[in-house]
Amino acid sequence: MESTTCLIAGGGPAGMILGLLLARAGIDVTVLEKHGDFLRDFRGDTVHPTTLELLDELGLREEFTKLPQRRLNSVAVPIGGHMRTLATFEHIPGRFKYIAMVPQWDLLDLLAQAADTEPTFRLRMSTEAIDLLREGGRIAGVRYRTEAGATGEIRADLTVACDGRTSTLRNAAGLRVRDRPTPFDVWWTRIPRNGTDPAGAVPVLTADRVAIMLDRGDYWQCAILIAKGSDSTVRHREPVTDIVRQMAAAVPWLADRVDAVRSWDEVKLLEVKLDRLERWHREGLLCLGDAAHAMSPVGGVGINLAVQDAVAAARILAPKLISGHLEESDLARVQRRRGMATTVVQGMQRVAHARVIAPAVSGKVNVSNFDDMPLALRVFRRIPVLRSLPPYLVARGVRAEHAPEFARRPVPPAPKVTKSR
Ligand SMILES: Cc1cc2nc3c(=O)[nH]c(=O)nc-3n(C[C@H](O)[C@H](O)[C@H](O)COP(=O)(O)OP(=O)(O)OC[C@H]3O[C@@H](n4cnc5c(N)ncnc54)[C@H](O)[C@@H]3O)c2cc1C
Repeated sequence: MESTTCLIAGGGPAGMILGLLLARAGIDVTVLEKHGDFLRDFRGDTVHPTTLELLDELGLREEFTKLPQRRLNSVAVPIGGHMRTLATFEHIPGRFKYIAMVPQWDLLDLLAQAADTEPTFRLRMSTEAIDLLREGGRIAGVRYRTEAGATGEIRADLTVACDGRTSTLRNAAGLRVRDRPTPFDVWWTRIPRNGTDPAGAVPVLTADRVAIMLDRGDYWQCAILIAKGSDSTVRHREPVTDIVRQMAAAVPWLADRVDAVRSWDEVKLLEVKLDRLERWHREGLLCLGDAAHAMSPVGGVGINLAVQDAVAAARILAPKLISGHLEESDLARVQRRRGMATTVVQGMQRVAHARVIAPAVSGKVNVSNFDDMPLALRVFRRIPVLRSLPPYLVARGVRAEHAPEFARRPVPPAPKVTKSR
């Protein structure tokens, strides 16, 4: 049987950051990722100021700046023919006063390359964790299956479930989940992007549609919000071309591509979940990121939260893994450290669901006049102290985590620019 010190199931933001940090502490780490690459559409694209600071601390700034990216300095929504700024990041504390929009597969590739230079790091793609190994009452590793159908077992001192919101491992462990109802699901589709379009992210609010368009260079990745469970009644009954046509009512520059989405096959359904484990751990097992607390896409905060979980876990657990004295109380410390941040951010998402998204997806909002917008939006926009709160929570979260000393690397000096004569 194979063995490792820390087995991480899932190569998303939580799993890759944890793998990189533990490997930099010299700990033997194996990450299993069920897909053959990171190139999947459904991932969000936001890299928040606290993650940008972390990348700096890890010495990855230079590689990161080479990735294709846009900067989101503020969020404005077209209402009644005017762009209304809902949030601006220019006043938040810290060095980075913007959110970087980077295709998530590029970020994950960067983390994988950085981790690959560490001799104790192993990433096994196309390998799915399918069950937990148990030894007495303790979790002792995982059973896996490769894409080719081979199965095997890996023993580990610690198993970390970073396998996302449908986590196989948290289900296998029988951990209790507190589910929160959500009023919406998401249709995920693409619209071509022209060079003259604005850059960054464009929220869309019309009488028929609520959507957000994410700039991915030559196309817009569009998240179209629909009432929870309504996909099966609407799909195939309404013309698919209505989607972009209705968005163009608020975004006039889409008028030249209203037939961009021609088939329902181009429109994927993503079910939105919001939940949280009561206990993130069992002896030998810890859940992090969406596996511990599935996040709604509202505010685009789930990636940052998953990254921050991983940083806190690496800092608390690395010394214990090195000394061989890891106990369940150490895993509980990770939950104590990250639990409050999760509760606050999910609370913010629940308020936005109830006060803004539910009325918007049920068509109860008059989009032609800002004064008819949901009260929560009006209050937050008009009272200066409140206006700065959502951008702060979105951009920095509640408890920013910094790279532990063992994981830090100097930023390579910028190349000297020699003056031409
Ligand atoms: C429609 C939608 C849009 C979103 N947009 C944004 C956004 O713009 N910004 C933002 O911050 N958040 C967004 N979120 C939330 C965000 O996607 C998650 O909070 C975040 O990805 C959590 O990171 P993670 O590493 O915990 O899990 P994930 O990113 O889900 O990664 C889990 C990884 O584990 C792999 N995996 C799964 N099962 C197994 C297994 N059994 N064995 C091995 N590997 C496995 C998966 O392939 C995946 O690579 C969005 C969510 C939704 C639903």
